Amino acid sequence: MVNRSQGHYDAIIVGAGMVGAAAACFLAKANPQLSIALVEARVATPFDKSQFDPRVAAITEKSRQLFERGGLWQSVVEKRVSPYLRMDVWDAEGTGRIEFDCEDIHQPNLGHIVENSALVDSLLAEVAWLANIDFYCPVSIADYQLDSDNVIVELEDGRQLMAKLLIAADGSNSNIRQHFQFATREWDYGHSAIITTITTERPHQQTARQRFMSTGPLAFLPLMKAEDMHHCSIVWSQETEVAEGLMALDDRQFCAQLSVASEQCLGQVVGVEERYSIPLRQRHATDYVAHRVALVGDAAHSIHPLAGQGVNLGFADIEVLVEEICRAVARGVDIGGMATLGRYQRRRKPENLATMAAMEGFKRLFAADQLPLRMLRNLGMTQLNQRSLAKNEIIKRAMGI
Ligand SMILES: Cc1cc2nc3c(=O)[nH]c(=O)nc-3n(C[C@H](O)[C@H](O)[C@H](O)COP(=O)(O)OP(=O)(O)OC[C@H]3O[C@@H](n4cnc5c(N)ncnc54)[C@H](O)[C@@H]3O)c2cc1C
Repeated sequence: MVNRSQGHYDAIIVGAGMVGAAAACFLAKANPQLSIALVEARVATPFDKSQFDPRVAAITEKSRQLFERGGLWQSVVEKRVSPYLRMDVWDAEGTGRIEFDCEDIHQPNLGHIVENSALVDSLLAEVAWLANIDFYCPVSIADYQLDSDNVIVELEDGRQLMAKLLIAADGSNSNIRQHFQFATREWDYGHSAIITTITTERPHQQTARQRFMSTGPLAFLPLMKAEDMHHCSIVWSQETEVAEGLMALDDRQFCAQLSVASEQCLGQVVGVEERYSIPLRQRHATDYVAHRVALVGDAAHSIHPLAGQGVNLGFADIEVLVEEICRAVARGVDIGGMATLGRYQRRRKPENLATMAAMEGFKRLFAADQLPLRMLRNLGMTQLNQRSLAKNEIIKRAMGI
């Protein structure tokens, strides 16, 4: 029996971002006998209903169902979610275009745009309520040590935590991944994504739009405030130097450039909130697990945001890891042993790698500006748009249903 008052737990999760906070909730609910320490370095920015968080994620139906089953979706809805019903994707260098509509696949929507702070806030409220989680925040970590039976985490305030399993949900620059010397395959895209919230002249009609340019994709993700449909969250990927130039523009100039880049698909961009530029890097850990350590979410893999899959892959990681931990407990097997963790890795790596490869392929295909490739790409999009069966299969796959 672990003794929480002495800092002994079954599992320590480091990082209470979307993936780590969700991991704590799902694990605590799946087996209330397990004790969990959740450690986070920063106090999360609280969700503020009066404005939109510049950081959003397109949450797939598969992830939504996971949250629904875990009793966690409704509280996110009560904060704010923006369902989108259609998607419009087009090639800036030609006539290629694909349109998806939820009615074609008999679904109420194609997914939800969720503000990151809405999700984290809802999860942390649940963490506070769950009796088998202790939340250590804000506190950084001074050191990690491993012995054959436990992993020991020393906090900077001098406290010491001990567990059978350390779950690294500490994001793309994971300190745990580096400390335990997990090898990675990574490269810099040389691109940065500008993110912000904009106001447009025309309503978005709950349609997510993405224009592929050879310089990078531009996404307009529809946001809803009551019935108002004039706000979108944008992700504008550009070569870093170009992004720096766009960041330096004043709001009026930026809106003018964005109106042109979006082909005025929603008329003029008439307002913009504070802009942020995020460098984009593809990274994949060669292994997700070592004795007593498991990487999840961006700590294991970070991918280009163009298809909005990053955090959805992280949620799929924790679903599988929680299943494997519960399976090990039921069989009396060590939850931090390689028999348990190896099963998690074997189940998750192929899907993550396949998604990353597909995103990389898309990125390169649309970056190519040789005429034959452009023609093929446009022809392919036009033909696909006319084949409803194939098109429906693609969108269902992206939704995870
Ligand atoms: C521009 C952009 C758009 C995106 N859009 C989408 C989208 O539409 N759909 C989608 O699925 N994904 C999207 N993503 C990806 C998604 O944002 C990430 O996959 C997701 O944020 C990863 O969550 P995480 O919890 O693994 O990591 P993070 O969100 O990075 O959280 C890590 C947490 O760990 C904490 N931490 C770090 N180190 C320590 C430490 N030593 N001790 C304690 N705490 C620590 C941090 O403070 C942080 O809270 C997008 C990404 C970008 C950049």
